[in-house]
Amino acid sequence: MKVIRITPRGYCYGVVDAIQLAKTIGKDPNVPKPVYVLGQIVHNRHAVDSLEQFGVVNLDGPDRLTLLEQIDHGTVIFTAHGVSPAVKARAVARGLHCVDATCPDVTRTHDLVKNLAAQGYQIVYIGKKGHPEPEGAIGEAPDAVHLVSTLEDVEQLVLLAGPVAITTQTTLSKWDTEAVIRRLGERFPGAEVYNEICMATQQRQEAAVAQSVDADVVIVVGDVRSNNSNRLVQVVQELAHKPAYLVDSVNDIDASWLDGCERVAVTAGSSTPSELTRAVIRHLEEI
Ligand code: SF4
Repeated sequence: MKVIRITPRGYCYGVVDAIQLAKTIGKDPNVPKPVYVLGQIVHNRHAVDSLEQFGVVNLDGPDRLTLLEQIDHGTVIFTAHGVSPAVKARAVARGLHCVDATCPDVTRTHDLVKNLAAQGYQIVYIGKKGHPEPEGAIGEAPDAVHLVSTLEDVEQLVLLAGPVAITTQTTLSKWDTEAVIRRLGERFPGAEVYNEICMATQQRQEAAVAQSVDADVVIVVGDVRSNNSNRLVQVVQELAHKPAYLVDSVNDIDASWLDGCERVAVTAGSSTPSELTRAVIRHLEEI
């Protein structure tokens, strides 16, 4: 069986920097201890667990403000997904040492939202409900930003008077957002579109679609909570029309997926540690 290694795949620079920063902070004797990460540093439990040996404690829960109430001293690291100004202010008010690992691409979206809101725009943010990234970006201008995920959300949307801008979460797929943006344009003619899907996400999705054309089956290595990993499965299924499966590690591979398969393609979400993907490739090559 031939194994096609889809490229690029795996860690993006935002994830690499966030994990490296957390390790450095954990080891630094001059940083107030304990060191907490507010939420999963990236959406991968293996990456999260690997920080324990550096003395970094990951807190997990429904929202960042509630998580903060569990900490009354030490250092708090904000994750690559970004946090709202209210979370930053609360962390400072609780006397915590704050370290910001927000990806620069997410910060750019926060700045965009802030600037548009200051100019009086109503902002429609296309994103995943319950994901920390929209939570942080919306927190920049809660009165001006409206979160939508589906076409049904668009139909129910009520905006105040004023110019309208549309923007997106960084880890969606451009194909995913097309229909929602089109419908928003019909409902709010003249709305300005700011596509904030990051380059790393876009490149991984485009490569997955293009390079899986010759494959019988596609394996995506990633955590079930990772939005960009789930989008990789979706774009392969919907655009390359190939069966695609998300696996957390080599242990999740179901042998029946490979029945009669001559070519299997492998890719990985931008929060997936490379060693997990290497183990999957090794296993497939041994078959
Ligand atoms: Fe940054 Fe994109 Fe990576 Fe998210 S997926 S950390 S936005 S580069």
